[in-house]
Amino acid sequence: MQAAIVTVGDELLAGDTENTNATWLCRELTARGVSVQRVLTVPDGVDTIADAVREYAAAFDAVLLTGGLGGTPDDVTMDGVAAAFDRPLGVDDLAKADLERTLAAIADDYPDLSVDVEAEASIPEGARPLVNSAGLSPGCVVETETTAVYVLPGIPGEMRAMFESVAEEFDGDVQSRTLYTDEPEAALIERLDDVRHQFGVQVGCYPDRAVQHNRLKLRSDDGATLEEAFAWLGEHVRTVDPPTEEEGETG
Ligand code: ATP
Repeated sequence: MQAAIVTVGDELLAGDTENTNATWLCRELTARGVSVQRVLTVPDGVDTIADAVREYAAAFDAVLLTGGLGGTPDDVTMDGVAAAFDRPLGVDDLAKADLERTLAAIADDYPDLSVDVEAEASIPEGARPLVNSAGLSPGCVVETETTAVYVLPGIPGEMRAMFESVAEEFDGDVQSRTLYTDEPEAALIERLDDVRHQFGVQVGCYPDRAVQHNRLKLRSDDGATLEEAFAWLGEHVRTVDPPTEEEGETG
C-alpha cells in the first residue's frame, strides 16, 4: 500500500507552525507497513489543494490531508477535495448530528459560540463522514475504485484521534530492520550496495554524529528476504548497541 500526505496551511509554509502532523502520520503509516511516497505542504488555496489531490489520488492507494477544516474563510480543504473529484459539497446528516451533539455538550462552557453547522458539516457528496471526537469539524473519506482520500483536521490532537478511528484501513507489507554500526559512512558504501543488489531490499544509512554511529535501516515487502539481508549485513559490518534513550537520535 502506497500513500501520500498533504498538509494544508499557510502557517506551515511560513514556519509559524511546526509540521508535526506530517511526521506523526509518516510514523503511523510506516508502522502499519504502508510505504509513504510523498509529503507535500500546500497553501490554503482551493485550486492548489485540488491539483495535489488529483495528482496523488491517481498515483497512490491513499492520500491523507490535514488542516483547513471548519468555518473560517481560510478553511478550504473540503472545497479543494470536492473540486478534485468534481463533486459538490453537501450537508452530511451524520456529521451534522454529531456536531449538534458536541455543540449542545459544550454550550454552557462556550455560551457565545456561533457555528455555521451546515457549513461545518458539509463534505463532498458521496464521501464517508468521519466524526471529530476531539473537536468540532468533521473529516471524511472520498473513495473510488482505486484510491481513498482521507480529510483530517489540522489540530494535532483532533487529527490523531480521527486517524485512529480509521487506522485499521491502513495495512501494508513493508517491514524494516535496523542495526547500528560505528563504522564511518564512507567505508560502508560497498557493503550497502552489496546488500541492496543481493537481496533487493531498500537501504538507508542515517548518521548520528552525537553518538558517533550510523543507523542502517533495511526495508522490504518480503519478510523472509528482509531477515536474510539483515543477517548478511550483521555479519559484514561492525555492529554496536542501539543508542540509549538519553543518547537519543539526532539525525
Ligand atoms: P479545526 O479542527 O479547528 O477546524 P483545522 O482543521 O481548520 O482545525 P487549521 O485551521 O489548518 O486546522 O489549523 C489549526 C491549528 O492546528 C493550527 O493553528 C496549528 O496549530 C495546528 N496545525 C495545523 N496543521 C498542522 C500540522 N501539519 N502540524 C502541526 N500542527 C498543525
